[in-house]
Amino acid sequence: MSTDKYQLSEVEEKTLSIGKCDFCDAEERYLKPLHDKYGDHILDRCFYGCEEERSIPKERKENFELLSIEETYRSQCHESKWEVSIKLNDKTLTIHLTRLNSETEAGLRREILQCRNRHEINRLNLIIFHN
Ligand SMILES: [Zn+2]
Repeated sequence: MSTDKYQLSEVEEKTLSIGKCDFCDAEERYLKPLHDKYGDHILDRCFYGCEEERSIPKERKENFELLSIEETYRSQCHESKWEVSIKLNDKTLTIHLTRLNSETEAGLRREILQCRNRHEINRLNLIIFHN
């Protein structure tokens, strides 16, 4: 089985979620998540395949400060969009996230404060299938 066509850029890779694979039961893998139109999470699978080393992330903790969270868009039934500013190494970074329609600023703030680095914040971005 070839996984070549799934090779992503480093930037794209940072938007992948990390967690347990439902196919091989390994923890801490880059995942390919699937959501249905109601935002329900169906299954996760090692992004590059269960036997691929590329599916295993190597990341360190970063000391970031959360500056602001601003809602920029909310659709009637699918999703909300957010602009998050963090301070990292004296630089301000802006991260755009798509979340479910039911997301709140307080809920998103809680999730962000549990992240270990900016990549984990990026991975809070949800891919929502509209069909
Ligand atoms: Zn797997």
